Amino acid sequence: MEHSPWPTVERRPDGMLALEAGAGVTQSVVRALARGAAPPPPFTVRALAPLPEVPPGERAITVDQTNHSVIAGEAVVVKWFPVPSRAPHPAPALLTHLAGFARTATPYAVIFWEDALVALVTAYLPGARDGWEWCVDEAVAGRTAFATEIGRLAAELHAAMASPSEAFPDPVRLPPPLAFAARAEDALGEALALTGGDDGEWLARHAGALRAEMASLSSTGRTPLIHIHGDLHVGQILQWRDGYAVVDFDGNPTVTEAEVFQPAARDLAQLLTSLDHVGQVAILRRSADPAATAAWVTAVREELGTAYENGLADAGRADLLDRSLVRPFEIEQECRELIYAARHLPRWRYAPMGVLRAWFA
Ligand code: ADP
Ligand code: MG
Ligand code: MG
Repeated sequence: MEHSPWPTVERRPDGMLALEAGAGVTQSVVRALARGAAPPPPFTVRALAPLPEVPPGERAITVDQTNHSVIAGEAVVVKWFPVPSRAPHPAPALLTHLAGFARTATPYAVIFWEDALVALVTAYLPGARDGWEWCVDEAVAGRTAFATEIGRLAAELHAAMASPSEAFPDPVRLPPPLAFAARAEDALGEALALTGGDDGEWLARHAGALRAEMASLSSTGRTPLIHIHGDLHVGQILQWRDGYAVVDFDGNPTVTEAEVFQPAARDLAQLLTSLDHVGQVAILRRSADPAATAAWVTAVREELGTAYENGLADAGRADLLDRSLVRPFEIEQECRELIYAARHLPRWRYAPMGVLRAWFA
């Protein structure tokens, strides 16, 4: 039997799909796309930009990741989804919408198998390291200059999200307030239910204080909603040869279109809390001095927030940020980190717990 250079996709008994891209598959798919060759049905390809010439060779990305990303010819990254979802996926429309936004890896193509999104093909950013590496180095060294650049980058991203395109002719929406308070309360309730031991006791003792910080969400007025990144933490910000870039726009395919439109403050809150997590990582894994690291966290949060607001103002989009939402969303985010730790990565619990204990000391 002739070896197919495309991945295998199987229907599992539970109805889900399972994709496998074995050795050599990524480079042959990328080279086929660059030649303009038609994919074997039921694969289809939506081209977003012409692929460059790609030399042979491939290597998998080995950092912590949700999906299976492979670099072909040191030029192109293919992010394969091992469990492709048949639900309409927000990524293709979003990548089209962001076509003019330069500070990301250029999207080249989207690959489908029947109606399921199976891969995103983007430019490889040479020398890229994600923020769980480069930003922890900054914390250990006590350097803060990056925070202004990252704040500006986030503001540019949100300004681009808020600019109309064919994909999103009405990118800024003003519906009646969403149920922000109920969503935050659900996150707290779930974090309380899933967190055991000393940490669980601490959380139960401080539930009232956490609730008090989120209380203002029930009186939030109309606030503009944009298609946010939805998973904006330093791990999605790559430092590479030419600066910083933000990646991983495919988010969570289980969220509906109504949910991807959110206040900009949600992305900002997640980005800010990720700086607190970087501080925890620096202390625990790199033996950074706790007092110096706490001062570093305070400084970079301040600098990033200021640069973000200045960036929005310069883009004429100061209206996108309702500052009063940032703190409540930060508390909610830490609850979500605890839920994530309980469900997927128990060793991560120290980071949100360290942050909450510092905030409510
Ligand atoms: P996941 O959804 O699996 O987290 P990401 O898109 O965030 O996938 O990619 C995982 C990792 O792969 C990133 O943290 C980064 O280290 C690396 N990476 C992703 N895209 C690129 C790119 N275009 N160039 C270089 N490295 C990349
Ligand atoms: Mg990622
Ligand atoms: Mg991701």
